[in-house]
Amino acid sequence: MARMWRMGNIPVKDEGVINVLVESPIDPNEHLVELNEIVKSTLYHDPFCQGRFIRNKLTDDFYALTCNGCGLRLKLPKKVVTIKDLKRHFAKKN
Ligand SMILES: [Zn+2]
Repeated sequence: MARMWRMGNIPVKDEGVINVLVESPIDPNEHLVELNEIVKSTLYHDPFCQGRFIRNKLTDDFYALTCNGCGLRLKLPKKVVTIKDLKRHFAKKN
């Protein structure tokens, strides 16, 4: 049976972190997790609210991850697909 593995967090400037959880039957390799698609991962907002990020389409080029706890909305280009892409995106902004 698959269980949830906590795979670290991604800092978001002034807005805490995105906690990344991935469902897998075995202890997942960090490299594989980075290639995991955002849509197949569970993302929680810490440390403020522990809400879960929901993905919504915004335009043809952008989507949003919206926290269902506090309403924080992160606008992301459509090309940000994997956890690795997400880390890179926020590493540039921090
Ligand atoms: Zn939140």
